[in-house]
Amino acid sequence: MRDPTVNLVGAGLAGSLLALLLARRGLRVRVFERRPDPRRATAERGRSINLALAARGIRALERAGMMPTIQPLLIAMRGRRVHDPDGRQSLVPYGQRPHEVIHSVSRGALNLALLEAAEAFPNVELRFDQACRGVDLEADTLLLRDTIRGEDYRLPLTPTIASDGAGSAVRQALATAGRLHATETRLDHDYKELTIAPRADGGFALEPHALHVWPRGGFMLIALPNPDATFTATLFLARDGADSFAALRTAVEVEAFFRREFADALPLLGNLGAQFAAHPQGLLGTVRCDRWHERGRVLLLGDAAHAIVPFHGQGMNCAFEDCIELAELLDGSNGGGDWSAVFAEFQRRRQPNAEAIAQMALENYVEMRDTVRDPAFLRQKAISLQLERRHPRRFIPRYSMVSFHPEIPYAEAQRRGAVQAGILAALDPGGDPGAEPVLDLARADTLVTQALNEIA
Ligand SMILES: Cc1cc2nc3c(=O)[nH]c(=O)nc-3n(C[C@H](O)[C@H](O)[C@H](O)COP(=O)(O)OP(=O)(O)OC[C@H]3O[C@@H](n4cnc5c(N)ncnc54)[C@H](O)[C@@H]3O)c2cc1C
Repeated sequence: MRDPTVNLVGAGLAGSLLALLLARRGLRVRVFERRPDPRRATAERGRSINLALAARGIRALERAGMMPTIQPLLIAMRGRRVHDPDGRQSLVPYGQRPHEVIHSVSRGALNLALLEAAEAFPNVELRFDQACRGVDLEADTLLLRDTIRGEDYRLPLTPTIASDGAGSAVRQALATAGRLHATETRLDHDYKELTIAPRADGGFALEPHALHVWPRGGFMLIALPNPDATFTATLFLARDGADSFAALRTAVEVEAFFRREFADALPLLGNLGAQFAAHPQGLLGTVRCDRWHERGRVLLLGDAAHAIVPFHGQGMNCAFEDCIELAELLDGSNGGGDWSAVFAEFQRRRQPNAEAIAQMALENYVEMRDTVRDPAFLRQKAISLQLERRHPRRFIPRYSMVSFHPEIPYAEAQRRGAVQAGILAALDPGGDPGAEPVLDLARADTLVTQALNEIA
């Protein structure tokens, strides 16, 4: 079992955390990363600059002993601050307990902290500017290219864990060799990131402890805070059609669109036309794969196995859970098992959960850009919170199960969420969303206790 070396392809968020976890377990780890060393290069453009870290990711970082290092990088966000077209704002809290918050964190700073922690182990070797070109299963080799020297080379698989992200070269090689079937379902909406500068006095231009959202039905703008008092705003918009990226060709068109749709954000966005032209338009999609491993020689993990759309803020959180699950399976195998069994068990445990969060993330796009403004949504949210207060071990709003309850697997959160949706529909009295809904409490208690077991 304890092969001398594990190859890790990709030193992104999952790869760097996994390198650390494997090194702690005494394995020799060789990490191949296509990008240059981040300490010598500027950040790659076109990826989200900051992300939301929630309880699943925090639990993984705690188990890796990383939270003391990561904690100072975090900005708590207590809820969605919804910006209406008329400029009114309201806070829709994520949870109802003080710790039920999510955290904005810089992708680059988090990645670097994990890389440096991994590199501190003598049994970890980080090799930058090394692009994986695939795997040759017949020859049992990993195909690499040194992009500085322009030289191709091969190494034994030994085994290889692929954390090379949504466009995984390893996944594509396995698919081409007929070893797995993968689908990449592209969303018909793309995204573009823009920066909101600090105020003249250096303070945040918007309330920092919230995720700001401008829901406009078919599209939305969001903004997450950064430690330097900027916000990273992201426009999610259809690629083609009337309101679309394709229709925003000039600075004048972009400004007119923002003035019409996001009037209160426009003055915060500086030279919007120039930013819009300079920043890349990113793609979004879902990757599904029927097999994540090959004979104990190769395993796909994180986005390489199951990239999802970002609307639940869970891709990284899910990838971090993968890392912990794999590390704990290796502990459990205790030298007596084999990589093949560990990889197979990893897929058996993680795949249903990856599929569940993939579906919930797609559903959350509709919630964020549209239903969050809907009176029925707000009323049912209020009922959910009431039911959670009455039955805290049974009825937990689905968003909370996903974001604040890592002990509930994603698939179970999805299953319970569907049961809860039925209960909410049965109890919803209709009426004014501003007032606390008047519930038939006896009926509510019966429905909840009959349909939902207590969470251990
Ligand atoms: C706009 C946007 C917003 C997001 N927001 C959130 C959020 O709020 N919360 C959240 O939890 N998740 C979020 N995500 C998802 C999150 O970014 C991913 O799930 C996470 O980065 C997955 O980690 P990973 O290590 O699997 O892949 P990545 O972080 O993509 O890392 C892959 C690494 O592999 C390297 N690589 C790629 N190809 C090769 C190759 N051929 N050879 C060698 N190296 C290679 C890359 O350079 C990279 O370093 C968001 C994603 C997007 C696009």
